[in-house]
Amino acid sequence: MSFERRWADLEPIGRANSGGYRRFAWTREDAVLREWFAGEAQALGLDLTQDRAGNQWAWWGSIDAAVAAGDRGVVTGSHLDSVPDGGAFDGPLGVVSALAAVEALQASGFVPARPIGVVNFVDEEGARFGVACAGSRIITGAMTGERAAGLRDGDGVTMAEALRSAGQDPSILGRDDETLLRIGTFIELHVEQGLALAGDGPQAPVGVASAIWPHGRWRFDFAGEANHAGTTRLADRHDPMLDYARAVLEAREAATRHNAVATFGKVQVEPNGVNAIPSLIRAWLDARGPTEASALDVVQDLTRSTGAVVTEESWTATTSFDGPLRDRLAALLAGPDGPAPILGTGAGHDAGILAAAGIPTGMLFVRNPTGISHSPAEFATLDDCRAGVEALTRTLKDLAS
Ligand SMILES: [Zn+2]
Repeated sequence: MSFERRWADLEPIGRANSGGYRRFAWTREDAVLREWFAGEAQALGLDLTQDRAGNQWAWWGSIDAAVAAGDRGVVTGSHLDSVPDGGAFDGPLGVVSALAAVEALQASGFVPARPIGVVNFVDEEGARFGVACAGSRIITGAMTGERAAGLRDGDGVTMAEALRSAGQDPSILGRDDETLLRIGTFIELHVEQGLALAGDGPQAPVGVASAIWPHGRWRFDFAGEANHAGTTRLADRHDPMLDYARAVLEAREAATRHNAVATFGKVQVEPNGVNAIPSLIRAWLDARGPTEASALDVVQDLTRSTGAVVTEESWTATTSFDGPLRDRLAALLAGPDGPAPILGTGAGHDAGILAAAGIPTGMLFVRNPTGISHSPAEFATLDDCRAGVEALTRTLKDLAS
C-alpha cells in the first residue's frame, strides 16, 4: 500500500537518539523532507508550486485555469516539521495520507471536477523561531513578513538568514492572495492528540473536528537579587526562584479551578549558576481552555497572585471550523453506530489559521491509543492510519465531484 512505502521513506529522516524527531524549519532535515515531498508530487504527476512563505503546494488539475473560471481547489495536507524529540505522526500523517488518498483516487479512475491540492506547510510547530504555524500565518497575513523575517532561533539566526541559507528568498515573505484565492476548501488530517477517540471515548478510528480551543502564551518575569549561594543568609535573600516555584503550583490550581489547562514548559534563569542566587527567572506559561474566559481567568489569577511582570506574547481566540462542512464530513464518514464522532482540540493547527482567515476548513482526527503527542510515544495503528486514508479519499472525492 502506498501509505506504508511513504511512511517508511520518512522514518529515518531527522530521527534523534532519543527515538524522537528533530525536524526544524529550514534545516538540512527540512530540506530532505521538502525534496521528498517534491519527488512524491512529481511521481503522482502533480504540479509543484511554492508560496511567499515557502509552503509547498502540489496540484492535480490546472488550478490557474480553475481560478480564471471562478472556481477554487480542494486542498488537503499538513506539515512535516516536528517539535524537539517529537513523535512520527504529528504532521507527517496528514501529508502521507493526502498523497496516498490522491494516489487512490487516481488509481480508481476518478476525474476531479475541480483541482485537488496537497500542501506541506513549513514551520508549523514553531520549534526553531518560536511562532507556531508560521507558514500559514505569513500567507494569511496573520503575521507580517517583516516580523517573520526578524524572528530569531536559539543561536540568534534570523528566519531571513535561515531562508537564505536554504536557498530561499526572504524578501518575498508576506501575505499571498494568489495562493489564498486557490483554496476553496481545506481539510487537514491529523493524529489525535488526546484520548477523545480512544480511552473512554467512542472507539472510532476517525473523528471530525469541531473547534480549536482558545490558547495563548505569556511571559512571566520574576525579578530578584543575585548573590552568593554560600555567604548570603536566608533572611537576607531575594530569591525569585521561590516566587516562580509558587507560580507553578498556583498555575495548576488555577487551571483546575477554571476547567482549563496551564503549563510552565520553558524557563530561563539568570545568571544560571549553581552557586548563585538568581537575579531573574523568566518563564513562559501556555494556557488554554474550552472557553476564552477559562484560559484568561487562569492568567488573570496568576498575574494578581504572583507579582510577576506578565507579558502576553500570543493569544488566539476560539477557532470554530465550518459548521456545514463539519456536519457533511461526519455524515459522509458515518460508521455502523451513526455519524463520525465530533471533537474539539486543545492544539493549534494550520487548519485553524486558514479557518480564521475565512477559508471553509475542516479537520479529521485519527485515533491515538496512547493519547500522547509531541513525544515518541505518539501513535496510531496501521489499521487506523489506513482508515484515515480511506476517510480522506472519500472526503476528497465528495468535495471535488
Ligand atoms: Zn501538527
